[in-house]
Amino acid sequence: MTSRSGNDNTFAVIGAGMSGVLAGIKLMEAGYPFQIFEKADRVGGTWRENTYPGIACDVPSHIYSYSFELNPDWSEFTSPGSEVQEYFERVSKRYGVDSHIRFNEAVTRCTWMGDRWEIETEKGTVEHFRWVIAATGILHHPKYPNIDGLADFEGPMFHTARWDHDVSIEGKKVGLIGTGSSGVQITAAVAPEVEKLSVFQRTAQWIVPNERVVYTEEEKEAFRTDADLLRTLHTEMSTAFNDGFATSVIDGNSELLDDIQARCLEALETVQDPELKEKLRPTYKAACKRLVVSHNFYDAVQRANVDIVTADIERIERNGVRAGGELHELDILVLATGFHVDAFMRPMNITGRNGIILDEVWKDWPSAYLSIAVPEFPNFFMLNGPNSPVGNFSLIQTAEMQFDYVLKVVDHINQGNLDLAVISQEAYERFDAERYEAAKGTVWATGCNSWYLDNNGVPFAWPFPFSRFRAEMEAPKLEDYEPAKR
Ligand code: NAP
Repeated sequence: MTSRSGNDNTFAVIGAGMSGVLAGIKLMEAGYPFQIFEKADRVGGTWRENTYPGIACDVPSHIYSYSFELNPDWSEFTSPGSEVQEYFERVSKRYGVDSHIRFNEAVTRCTWMGDRWEIETEKGTVEHFRWVIAATGILHHPKYPNIDGLADFEGPMFHTARWDHDVSIEGKKVGLIGTGSSGVQITAAVAPEVEKLSVFQRTAQWIVPNERVVYTEEEKEAFRTDADLLRTLHTEMSTAFNDGFATSVIDGNSELLDDIQARCLEALETVQDPELKEKLRPTYKAACKRLVVSHNFYDAVQRANVDIVTADIERIERNGVRAGGELHELDILVLATGFHVDAFMRPMNITGRNGIILDEVWKDWPSAYLSIAVPEFPNFFMLNGPNSPVGNFSLIQTAEMQFDYVLKVVDHINQGNLDLAVISQEAYERFDAERYEAAKGTVWATGCNSWYLDNNGVPFAWPFPFSRFRAEMEAPKLEDYEPAKR
C-alpha cells in the first residue's frame, strides 16, 4: 500500500471557501499532503465576498456548521453573514489549515500530464500534484444584467457580491434590480436608511415567513457546556431538513410544498394595499424558484419610501432607470441579479487526458458523475460540483459527504486496485440520463424561470432523495471507474 504521506500523493485544493477549508481539515486528518490555492486574501468564499447590508444565512446556523465543529455561539437561529465568515476564519485557523493556503494565488491552468496534474497560477508558478480537488463554489461569478444603457449610469453602481462600503446609502435614492434572496435581504435592511428605495421586480417571489430567534446567553452557555445538546440539535435539524423539505422538492406534487405555499400566502396577506399585494403575488408554485426566507420583507415594502416597480425595465439612463415609460431617478444602483451558476472552476483552463478540454465537454451545460467526477479528467474531483444538491440539503453536509467519497476512492487507488481515478464514460452517461429524467418530476420543473435550470430548462440540482445521496457517498461504486491506462 502506498503511504498517504508521500510526496507523490499531494493534493491541490482549489479554493478556500467552506468546502476548501473542509478538504484541508480532512486531508490533514487523513495524513495526505496538500496545498490550497485561494484567489483572495482570506478564506470564506461566498461569505467573504457577500457583505451587503442584511446578509444572513437562511439555513439554520446549527446545521450550517461543520458536523465536527459545531458552534455554541451562533447568535441567532439564522445568523448574520459576518458571523458565518468569522466562523470559517476561526475554524481554518484552529485546525491549522491557514498555513497550507496560498492566498492571492488564483489557479489559471490545470493540465493532465499522464500521471499527475500540472497546475499554473496567476503568479506564473508551475507545480505538479497527483490529485486535484476543485472546491470553487457555485455562487461566485456575479451576473450583470443585459440591460440597455447599463454603462450610462453616472452614480455608484455595484453588484450585491461587490458591495461598495465606501458609498453611503443614507438619505439617498437607491435602485435595486432583483428580488432573489439577496435582493430581499437588502430591501429589508436598507429601506429604513434611504430616502427612497425603488425595487425593480421582474418576477414576484414566494417569501417564507420566519421568526427572528436570537439565542440568549443562557442558551449559548447550555450549548457550550453540554456537547450532547448541541449534537442532538444538529442531528434533529438535519434529519428534519433532509426528510422534510429536501424530500418535498423532488416531488412537484408534495403536500409539504402545499403547506409551505399556504404559509407564504398567509404572510402575503399581511400586505395591506391590495394593489401592492397583487404585485407581490407569485404566479407559479412555491419552491419552484429557490424559496426566499424573510421575517421583514413585507414590512419593508409597505413603507412609504419603498416602491415596487413591476413595469419592464426599458433602459438605464445617466440618472436612473426607465421602466414602463417612467424615469425612476436614482443616486445609487444596486444589481441583485444573481450569479453565473454554470461557471464552476472556469475560466480556469482545464485539460484532461488526450488533450480534452473541460470547456468543450461542458459547452452546453456542466455535468458530472454524482456531481464529483468527469470522464477523461483523472484524479480530479469536485466538491459541490455540477448536479450537487444545491436546492435541497445543507451545502456543508453535502461537501462533507462528497469529501468522504473522494477519500474512499483515493484510498482504493492507493491500495493498488486501480491505476487512476477516471470515471467511465458509461457510468457518467448512465447517471446523467437518470438524473435528467428525475429532474423533470421536481418542483423546480413546474413552470418558472430560475437559476436551477440549465439551458434547456431542465433543473440541474440533485433530483433524488437524501437517502440515495448518502448511500452513493458512503459506498462508492468503484466498478464505475475505469481500469485506466496512462
Ligand atoms: P437570484 O436568486 O438569481 O436572483 C436574481 C434576481 O435578479 C431575480 O429576481 C431576477 O429576476 C433578477 N434579474 C436578473 N436579471 C434581471 C434583469 N435583466 N432585469 C430584471 N431583473 C433581473 O440571485 P440572488 O438573490 O443573489 O441569490 C442567488 C442565490 O444565492 C440564492 O438563491 C441562494 O441560493 C444564495 N443566497 C443565499 C442567501 C442566504 O441567505 N443563504 C442569501 C443570498 C443569496 P427573475 O426572478 O425574473 O429571474
